[in-house]
Amino acid sequence: MDHLSRQQQLRQVLQDERLDGFVVTHPANLRYLCGYTGSNGLLLFLDGRCTFFTDGRYTQQAREEVRGARITIAKGALALAAGARMHARNGVQIGFEADLTTVTAAAAMRKAMPKNVRLKPASGLVMRQRILKDAEELQLIRDAVQLGAQVYQAAMQAVRPGLSESAIAGRLEFAAREAGADGMSFETIVAGGKRSALPHGRATAQPIPRRGFVVVDSGVILRGYCSDMTRTVHVGRAGREERKWYEAVLEAQLAGVAAVKPGQLAGEVDKAARQMLRRARLDRYFTHSTGHGVGLEIHEPPRLGKGQTEELRPGMVITIEPGIYIPGKGGIRIEDMVVVTERGCDVLTPVAKELVEI
Ligand code: ZN
Ligand code: ZN
Repeated sequence: MDHLSRQQQLRQVLQDERLDGFVVTHPANLRYLCGYTGSNGLLLFLDGRCTFFTDGRYTQQAREEVRGARITIAKGALALAAGARMHARNGVQIGFEADLTTVTAAAAMRKAMPKNVRLKPASGLVMRQRILKDAEELQLIRDAVQLGAQVYQAAMQAVRPGLSESAIAGRLEFAAREAGADGMSFETIVAGGKRSALPHGRATAQPIPRRGFVVVDSGVILRGYCSDMTRTVHVGRAGREERKWYEAVLEAQLAGVAAVKPGQLAGEVDKAARQMLRRARLDRYFTHSTGHGVGLEIHEPPRLGKGQTEELRPGMVITIEPGIYIPGKGGIRIEDMVVVTERGCDVLTPVAKELVEI
């Protein structure tokens, strides 16, 4: 990973924002900027220098992982204060990740700071950088998506009426770990029968019914990067109406993918998917947005929802995941991950989307 050029890029942003320094504590941002994967750490940018602070538990890990920063072992706010004091001069403005810092932690930072240092809320600076994935990240994401698809297919072989949702989730998660995943990107969703109408139906002890849809939404984390995919299968033969529902969601998903290209507004992709469901008079059952960015975290910008004005750019990795949820009957969602390219997009998820009957 090219941590040094990421740090350099952030320094440029700080200059544009008229900040003398910046404090990073959010784990995904620490990993992105200096390679550190531990849970407690603090990276201070100040006066062209970069210092990493962590406590004694992480001494060895920090030495092995951290790139482009001097390592100091000391506790959080005090460390920060010490770091800031080294450079303190009147009117120094240090930004912090206000959207990712608790009120308590922000108060502790303020209290520990020398009087002549001003802490200034500065949200989303690192995320703005992370939204565009570099070549190395894209490869890691492709690998995660491949593994996610592989364990999905392995687990789906086991689906049959009577087996519990959590048993299916368990197989999927076991296969992921066995194949080297760091963990799951989120709690695996397996929702059968009427429960498939719950957009976030976490797997329960409930058995898969003899007939009906089963929604499986899962993702792995591989070398830090997340995958995310959803497929919906039908246990038993799908009736005419169920087929119609499935086809409508599939058409919406394909329309969403087709709308992805550089310069496109995120909200337009949502609109393209939503319009297909409107045509089928099913749009009132589509109760969430069409997709989200994915990377070191499972939900990142951009958000592909109604009216979102973010422009898509090459290097963004997003999901396209329309769904319908009909209370008392069932639900369907189809989700792929795609990368925005110079010409349009590449679909990363390598699993067919035609209706599968089990
Ligand atoms: Zn998902
Ligand atoms: Zn998703």
